[in-house]
This record gives sequence, structure tokens and C-alpha cells, in this order.
Amino acid sequence: MTAPIYLWGISATALALLAVLAILWHWNVRLKKEVDARKRFEEIIEQYREVVHTSLDGFMITDISGAVLDVNASACRILGYSRAELLALRAADIEAKKSAEETALHMREMMEQGYSQFETVHRRKDGSTIQVEVSILHLPRLDDRFFGFFRDVTARKEVESQLRIAAIAFEAQEGMMVTDANAVILQVNQAFTHITGYASADAVGHTPRLLRSDRHDDDFYAGLWGSLKLSGRWQGEIWNRRKDGEPYPQWLTITVVKDRAGLVSHYVATMTDITQRKLAESEINALAFYDPLTGLPNRRLMLDRLRQALTGSDRSRRHGALMMMDLDNFKILNDTQGHDVGDQLLMEVSRRLQAGVREGDTVARLGGDEFVVILVGLDKAGFAAMQAEAVGVKIQALINEPYELTVSSHEGKCIHHCSVSIGITLFQDQHTSTEELMKRADTAMYKAKSAGRNTLRFFDPEMQAAVSSRAALESQLRSAIHHQQFVVYYQPQVDGARQVVGVEALIRWVHPDRGVVLPGEFIPLAEDTSLILPLGDWILEAACQQLKTWALQPETAQLSIAVNVSARQFRQTDFVKRVLGLMDRWGTPAGRLKLELTESMLLDNTTEIIAKMRTLKSRGISFSLDDFGTGYSSLSYLKLLPIDQLKIDQSFVHDVLNDPNAATIACSIIALAHSLGLMVIAEGVETPEQSDFLARNGCDHCQGYLFGKPLPLSEFEAQLRLYSEQR
Ligand code: C2E
Ligand code: CA
Ligand code: CA
Repeated sequence: MTAPIYLWGISATALALLAVLAILWHWNVRLKKEVDARKRFEEIIEQYREVVHTSLDGFMITDISGAVLDVNASACRILGYSRAELLALRAADIEAKKSAEETALHMREMMEQGYSQFETVHRRKDGSTIQVEVSILHLPRLDDRFFGFFRDVTARKEVESQLRIAAIAFEAQEGMMVTDANAVILQVNQAFTHITGYASADAVGHTPRLLRSDRHDDDFYAGLWGSLKLSGRWQGEIWNRRKDGEPYPQWLTITVVKDRAGLVSHYVATMTDITQRKLAESEINALAFYDPLTGLPNRRLMLDRLRQALTGSDRSRRHGALMMMDLDNFKILNDTQGHDVGDQLLMEVSRRLQAGVREGDTVARLGGDEFVVILVGLDKAGFAAMQAEAVGVKIQALINEPYELTVSSHEGKCIHHCSVSIGITLFQDQHTSTEELMKRADTAMYKAKSAGRNTLRFFDPEMQAAVSSRAALESQLRSAIHHQQFVVYYQPQVDGARQVVGVEALIRWVHPDRGVVLPGEFIPLAEDTSLILPLGDWILEAACQQLKTWALQPETAQLSIAVNVSARQFRQTDFVKRVLGLMDRWGTPAGRLKLELTESMLLDNTTEIIAKMRTLKSRGISFSLDDFGTGYSSLSYLKLLPIDQLKIDQSFVHDVLNDPNAATIACSIIALAHSLGLMVIAEGVETPEQSDFLARNGCDHCQGYLFGKPLPLSEFEAQLRLYSEQR
């Protein structure tokens, strides 16, 4: 707005002044001849000259050839010449934009029109140029003179062009928002509207809260304002919400604008929508960490996961396993059928590998036909190698399944068979480096390759030995079940009067080469391989049968048999049916069969467990809680479960005389059982002193070598006879 007013201003005043001066000049000329009146008029002229000379604008009179006849002080100042110098020049000399001919032409036009206002460039004495605004009047009546005012507008032009640049910049690609000191939006640009969906009218008058998404908490915004206060600037990634509700990421820069007094006057925010960049970033990320063919983590990400797994295992004290795999004869397929077919196989293999592991485990592709699997959360000790081996075996089976591959040259499908060599190494702490582990797994993998492919090898020789002997044991166990190489041993349980009230049935494996094998050696494996189910059935049946036989003889009619039941066995949905079926088949008398359970197996699915126990109890079966004191021993579930007896674990009994803690625990168990109306039995009683201590403290029953070792049926019965004869 200022420019037109200004132009109007200079043109109006200048024209008026020029008219007056022209007239005065005319008068002056005439007065020259009239000597008398001259003095008076000269005074008036002097006054006006004074006005002209004190004007801030430059003033100049020329003749029609452009020769300078008069100038004021401002003209000298603006152009950098002395008055005398200027009076020696012509208009064309100071004109920098037009040539002498153009200047002459312009002057002729002005003579026709009578006046002209224009902008041009003048050259100062020092050679520099200035932008000027000129207003010229031609008065033919006054000796054909030009009267001109000019003004230096260089600075104003500069500001104008800067404003123009700023206006263009404001409408640039970046979204912009200007707020006042209270963060009320004053102005937004087109790009802002484009990004946010809010038109200027929607946004102006609101605060930027309008754009807030719920992705940041109050702390985030507090941090933003804090940094603005402190440094006058905030820059970062922020999630905002568009008008249509869609959240989006943007790169935001907020700058504080302060006035001369140093007080905040405005905030200027520039923003770029970085949705696309984020997408690109995630694509780059995918390229950097994932194998493009299979989408599996690549070596880099795998090493990272391995490091995490090491830290995790160190913390949890659980083992992890690193499995290195290499497909057998992949190169042949690739070379004969082409890479396209090879790729199909690799993709299918990667799908199968992923299907073969649990969620927290990692499957990665190192390149070519090399894959890596990282298993985490394996057993704390002992069984980790077996668990890893089980996964390896499962993976081998999955890989061995036939593949249907599309072969373009045959225009059809071909069936392909594949196998894999697996090298395994276990880890449990952070002391082994990832490089070392990779080396070990690789070594094991080459052992597997050279052992004839489709095989699996451990790096650690002991682990390999354990796994191999376990494999041998498993096959022997299967054949032992088939050939019925098991016998039941019976160990007496006595009451306070040392009267035998029952027995615990303990299984023994009579191995054709090794002789009697104790359950500690094969029960865990049987539990791991489900072989515990036929074994468990077998011993239950033996007990049911024996109880029926004993019921027919007065010296054994009162005896009960306690049978150990494994978690796996008890969890079978038809467990109750099986037990009751066996009792019916053998005519087992009610109230003589006792099942020994352990605490840990009663923890999950409590409702279902209680239901099972109730049904069995209703048929006269009782329950004893084995190894009591070593597990959770939670009072709340003890009250819930229909238990009849607690069995104090032998570790406490063993130490009851020399470890006050063990004695306290044993006594507490007895008190606890009695307070719940349960019976207590102590196992592993070996000395009369232990027996006395327990009896003194109210323990109901005892079991242990002191009263009899586990014996085969005939020996047990013989001992029982001897025992009763002695009494
Ligand atoms: P458990 O149920 O705690 O059995 C008690 C173990 O302590 C038995 O070992 C028994 O022979 C032993 N023992 C008894 N008295 C004494 C003693 O005075 N001193 C010492 N040091 N030991 C004594 P066993 O027969 O080797 O059985 C070991 C474990 O195998 C059993 O522990 C039980 O958990 C399991 N087991 C045995 N038979 C079966 C079965 O038929 N089914 C299932 N599921 N597990 C069984
Ligand atoms: Ca037991
Ligand atoms: Ca026990």
C-alpha cells in the first residue's frame, strides 16, 4: 500500500511545486526586464528556491538539449557531485539505464506530453548506480525548460524485492505457520493446507493444538516448549493429525521471533510431511536387514539377534542354541534347473524353517543355501542339548518333505527332494563371542556334512555323546516296552507302630546287558518322548492286578499301593477313564490304590485337575503329594486340592538331625498337614534316629531303607512274612 501513496505523494507535491516554480521562473524572466518590480519578486523567488533547495528530493532544471541549468543540494548529495560539476553535465550523463539516443527520444516524448513520471537508474559520480523515481514537467512557455524532481529509491526497492522474495518463499514447498506470542495462528501457507488439510480460514485464530495427535505425551510437548524457551528453536520429528483424522509424521522446525526489546513476538514453524521418507526409510531398513528373496533376517540382523540371545540367556540362566544349516546338493539343482527353480526351493525352505521353530526363535538366511536358526529359552541344564536336537530333527523332517517346483523349461511341475546338514552349538552366557559361536556351529555343520548329509552334529563332543547315547537309549527303551523288560519293585511304608500299611511301587528296567536300571536313568527320557504313557499304564495295571491278588490273602489284604504318576500321564484327557477301566478289569478293591503326584503338575488348569481328582476319589483312590517341600508348597492350592497325604521329601529327612533348617521344614510340613486334616509320610528314612525324630514330631508314616529297600514282589513278600513272624 505504501508505494502508490508514496508515488501519489511525490507526484502531487512535485507537480504542484513544479507548476509554481515554472510560473515563478516565467515571472522571473519577465521581471528581469522590469527593474522596479524586480526586487520584490526576487525575494519571493528566493523563498521558493529555498524551499526547493531544502527539499530531500533532488531537483534539476535542464534545457531541451538536456544541459543542466540548476540543481539543489539534495541532487548534489544523491548524485555525489558538486553543484558546479553538475552544472557542467547533461541529463544523459547521469542516466545509466538509457543510451543518449533513448534519453533524447524520451525528452521529445515529454515535450509532447508536458510531463512524465518514471523510474530509472542514475549513475553517481563514483560510478555506483542508484534506483530513482523521477517526476518531470516541461514548460515550453518558460524558455523550453525541463523541471525535474528525483528521489533515491534504492533502499525501498531492496525492501520491496525482499518482501517479494519472502512472499514467494512463504508459498514454497514447506508448510509454514506463523503464530503470535500466545501461539495463536496468524498465517499459514498453501503447503500447510496441502499437508494438514486445514485451509487458512480453518487454522487462523486457533493454536497448533488443532494438529495434535495422541502419539506424544505431555512430557514431549513440555520438552518442545522448554527448548524453545532456552534456545529459541526446536527441531524434530513429530506426529500430527490431518483434518481428516489421519496421523502423519512431519519434520518440524519452530523458530522464535523476538522484537527489539527481546520479547517473543511470533513463532514461525516450517514443516515437511515425511510420510514418504519414513516409508523409504523402512524400505531401506528392509534392504539392510532382511534377505530380499525370502524376507528372512540377513546375517547382520541375525548377529544382532544372536547378541541379544546371549544377553538373554545370561540373565535367565537358560540355554540357547545356534544352528547352522546347509542344504545338501543345492548347487546341483541350481545348476541343472536354473536359479529360478533354486529360488523357489529356498523360499519354501524358509517357510518350513519358520514353521519349525517357536515365536521367540530366529530363522535367518546367510546367503546361498545357508540358513541359521537361533533357539532361545531352552532348559536350564542337562536337557538343552536334547531339546535342540529335537528341534533339529523336526526341521530335518520338514525339509525332507517333497517339494513341488515349477520348471518353466518343462512347462510343468517337478518333484524335488532335499535334505539339510545341521551343526549345533549351545550357549548360556555372554562369555563366548558371536564370532566364536558362529565358528563352532560352522565346524559342527561340516562334521554333519562329512558324516553323510541329512545329519545333525553338535560342536561340543560331550553334548554329541549325550545326544547319541540318548538316541540309543530311546530306541532301547522302545524295544524294552515291546519286550516287557520292566518289573515292579515294592518298598514298604510303615505306621508309628512299624506295622507295614502299604508299599510304593517303583519301576525297574531289567536290561538284557546292563542288568537292573534305575528309573532316574530312563524316566526323564520316557517323559520327553511320550514313552511314559505306555510305561505308566503298565505299572498302573501291575498295581491294580497286585492289589486284587493281595486282597485274597489276610496278611496283605490291608496293604495299599502307591503309584507314581507323571505329569504327562495325568494330563491325558482319558486318564480317569484309563485308571477306572484297569480297576474294573482286575477287580481292584476300593480304598487301596494311591496315586503319587508332584506339586508342579497341579499348578495349571487347576479346575480340570480338581475335577479329575474328585472323580478318582469317588472311586476310592487316594492322593499323596510327593517330594513335598521342594516345590511351591502354596497353602492356597493345598486347600483346594482333594489330597490325602503329604510326603516329606527325602532331602529334609536326610538332614533332619544335622541341619536345623531341614528339621524346621519337616516339622512345619507335619503341622501344616495336620492342620489341613492330611496324613504325613516321610520318605528316605535310613536311621532309627531319623525315625525317632519324626515320630516324636507326629509324623504318621515312614518309608525308607530302615524299614525295607525296594524289592521285587517275591522278595518283598518273603520279607513281609519274616517281618510279621518276628513281631
Ligand atoms: P520318588 O517317587 O521320590 O521315589 C523315591 C525314591 O527314593 C526311589 O528311588 C526309592 O528307591 C528311593 N528311596 C527309598 N527309600 C530310600 C532311602 O532310605 N534312602 C535313599 N537314598 N533312597 C531311598 P527310585 O526307585 O530310584 O526312583 C526314583 C524316582 O523315579 C522316583 O522318585 C520317581 O519319581 C520315579 N519313578 C520310579 N518309579 C516310577 C514309576 O513307576 N512311574 C513314574 N512316573 N516315576 C517313577
Ligand atoms: Ca514317589
Ligand atoms: Ca519322592
